[in-house]
Amino acid sequence: MSKYSKKIILSEQDIPKQWYNIQADLPEPLEPAFNTRTGKIATKEDLCVIFPEEIVEQEVSRERWIDIPEEVRDIYKIWRPSPLIRARNLEKFLDTPAKIYFKNEGVSPSGSHKSNSAIAQAYYNKKAGTTRIATETGAGQWGSALAMACQMFGIECVIYMVKVSFEQKPYRKSLMHVYGANVFASPSTQTEVGRKVLASDPDCKGSLGIAISEAIEDVLSHNNAKYSLGSVLNHVALHQTIIGLEAKKQMEMVDEYPDIVIACLGGGSNFSGMSFPFIMDKIQGSRPNLRAIAVEPSACPKLSKGVFAYDYGDNSGFTPAFKMYTLGHTFMPSGIHAGGLRYHGASPLVSSIVKHKLAESVVVGQKEVFEAAVTFTKCEGILPAPESAHAIRTAINEALKAKEEGISKTILFNLSGHGHFDLSAYEQYLSGQIQDCNYSQKEVEKALEDLPKVNI
Ligand SMILES: *Cc1c(COP(=O)(O)O)cnc(C)c1O
Repeated sequence: MSKYSKKIILSEQDIPKQWYNIQADLPEPLEPAFNTRTGKIATKEDLCVIFPEEIVEQEVSRERWIDIPEEVRDIYKIWRPSPLIRARNLEKFLDTPAKIYFKNEGVSPSGSHKSNSAIAQAYYNKKAGTTRIATETGAGQWGSALAMACQMFGIECVIYMVKVSFEQKPYRKSLMHVYGANVFASPSTQTEVGRKVLASDPDCKGSLGIAISEAIEDVLSHNNAKYSLGSVLNHVALHQTIIGLEAKKQMEMVDEYPDIVIACLGGGSNFSGMSFPFIMDKIQGSRPNLRAIAVEPSACPKLSKGVFAYDYGDNSGFTPAFKMYTLGHTFMPSGIHAGGLRYHGASPLVSSIVKHKLAESVVVGQKEVFEAAVTFTKCEGILPAPESAHAIRTAINEALKAKEEGISKTILFNLSGHGHFDLSAYEQYLSGQIQDCNYSQKEVEKALEDLPKVNI
């Protein structure tokens, strides 16, 4: 056996033919989304205003397995199956008895796991006759993924990009432009919502929530336009399960099953994608001791410090209210470099899983995250996105704990994306300018006063 890190690869025909829908196996069904405008449970018709019907069907489906369309699988073949890597170099560096595996989703053309859902969503939209898709993007990964997917299916793509990232990451914007998308810094003057925010705070750096509100307003004011979301919703989690399903096959090839599965948590899509196929075994009883860990930044710890309540998916209350862990939709996290983790809530599915103690959460600080990222890059040669580095930090912590306890653990984490567009953040870290940003309990309390009133 090689003493160096090594990839475990599947062949094209091993790309899963179905996604796994955890709604089939939840201990309790999800609580329904609530439309605060009608004062009633949100209906499929409500959702069909902004999403194509097949996506809405997936959103509410309780079928355990859902077929991946052949055309989507064909496009996946550009980069899938993605490699699973045994990080022996890192293990050696840590001098740990733990085995560390990671799935590299950074190999997708857009650089992150987001392409798994972007391709599927563009496909269903094309089939339904959509000619324009509007969306928001935080760090720019979702925007890049959707821009590429829309280009492949000949759909116009309009992207509202959170201003702090627009300024921090001009090259993400350039990539979206090359893919042919229209990109606006959010809050923008394109929409009523954006103009309102700017009127009260001209220097507002934006948030995912505001950008979502702008994209939804864009959809409602254009013909044949639909909205597309890169995280949070059930259908996005569904599409991402290809990560965990492939990883499971790859672990089987080397006769392994993880004791601990780790992924970072923004809205919850890469955590869902990696962990749900394993949590299925935990729910069904064959792996009762599996631990699944969602890693949050200390600037935005919704699972660890939020409340489980109905809240809007966006900043201005356009979307239905979902039952989830939230810091309040008006909570504005500080501008950390892991822009993709600055979302006020955790997806309803992840929230439910955590509520039922089928997964746990941990909080890590920005400095220790970059320290782990640099260690990882030196050992493995792969530069992670700052978001993914949250998972790396936790994997390293667990490996060191195993060392202390003198036991061998098998740890699997998701490397959700590469950090080639985040080099200015790395430069700042290396020159000692990265600060830890903790959330303010007072601001969360204030935001929680704005939770919608829901009586079902
Ligand atoms: C968007 C993003 C995240 C966070 O989003 P989730 O929906 O929680 O997965 C994490 N890592 C990368 C690389 C991302 O692009």
